[in-house]
Amino acid sequence: MKALLSLDPFFEVFLGLKLCQADMELKMTDNWKPRTRAVHGGTRRSQYGEVSEAIFLTQGYVYNDAESAESRFLEAGPDEFVYARYGNPTVRMFEERIALLEGAEDAFATASGMAAVSGALMSMLKSGDKVVSARALFGSCLYVLEEILVRFGIEVVFVDGTSLADWEAAITPETKAVFFESISNPTLEVIDIKSVAQLAHAVSAIVVVDNVFATPVFSDAIAQGADVLIYSATKHIDGQGRALGGVVIGTREFIRKTVEPYMKHTGGCMSPFTAWIMLKGLETMELRVRAQTDNALKLAIALEGQPTLSQVIYPGHPNHAQHALVKTQMGGKGGTVLSIDLKEGQVAAFRFLNALKICLISNNLGDAKSIVTHPSTTTHQRLPQDQKDVLGITPGLVRISAGIEDSDDLIADVLQALEQTI
Ligand SMILES: *Cc1c(COP(=O)(O)O)cnc(C)c1O
Repeated sequence: MKALLSLDPFFEVFLGLKLCQADMELKMTDNWKPRTRAVHGGTRRSQYGEVSEAIFLTQGYVYNDAESAESRFLEAGPDEFVYARYGNPTVRMFEERIALLEGAEDAFATASGMAAVSGALMSMLKSGDKVVSARALFGSCLYVLEEILVRFGIEVVFVDGTSLADWEAAITPETKAVFFESISNPTLEVIDIKSVAQLAHAVSAIVVVDNVFATPVFSDAIAQGADVLIYSATKHIDGQGRALGGVVIGTREFIRKTVEPYMKHTGGCMSPFTAWIMLKGLETMELRVRAQTDNALKLAIALEGQPTLSQVIYPGHPNHAQHALVKTQMGGKGGTVLSIDLKEGQVAAFRFLNALKICLISNNLGDAKSIVTHPSTTTHQRLPQDQKDVLGITPGLVRISAGIEDSDDLIADVLQALEQTI
């Protein structure tokens, strides 16, 4: 493995080897466990043998002659690129690394999580198609489904994502795709990927899963039946609040024949510099996400039974309504986010936010820094009150994304801020 890793183009030529990068990757990564894949997967080392992945900050590529340009436009080989909107070595490293991590064939990196959501859906759907979606969605996902898709003659039916009976009633032979967040934002409902996929596959519908809250660390979504996986790389993959990014993951056929033509002609691709940030993010993601998940559980336990709270929602806590599903779907790990509901509503929620000393008031999640959000007045402000009521986005609801700080400090911060609300 080591020998292959350090095989550089000079030796390939010297030894008369004609292994292309993709073949080498396959050989090297066959038996690697996820943690190793996250560090080494997809690496394309240049002739300089750099340890840290190179940033190919180039928009285009030079051809040796006019004939090579013609043939590359006809069909680019695995190590050949035409234009950075279509592909770039640094971006390809990120795509290969995340695809390997998820046990998928391929991936396409995008400018943001929303470019991935809209790109995956717009590239596969046409007028007259029907989509069945869970109702509890990130605000922008809801906008894409409810405002954009319908404008193009696509029927969208919303269901209670936790009710298999609802999915069963809504999924009909006309259904082209189903869409859901495997853990919903901000009420942290967990959707049964395997059961929904079975219903969808019975009518040959494509299962599209926004897997942000589950994170790649606790994901086995492809094995559970997801056909297309989407991540906002902005969240746990970067995990340090530096850059926006996204990725669509699926079969090579779907990624290269459906997603890539749409993305390359509409322009929502990831920049090489962002891809480099995301590659470095993947290297440490598992360590960060596990530490954050430990902190989230400790916070949930510390907050449980606090007199000022009507609810503590955390999928990793045995009290969560779907903890049994969390055990089978995510190995019992609840992810990095918990939500709490303050009995005294928005006034108490604002007092709580304003009294925090470590947790930052912001609207990102999955960051190394702990972040608190008041969904009702920020991320979900746009929704009418009746829709907020249906989704459980109450005036007292606060979302907490646990960071990697010392758990004792975090618990002390949250408890002292709760006391300020009385
Ligand atoms: C943040 C988020 C998105 C959008 O990602 P961006 O990178 O901000 O565009 C989509 N879905 C979910 C569940 C998210 O949390």
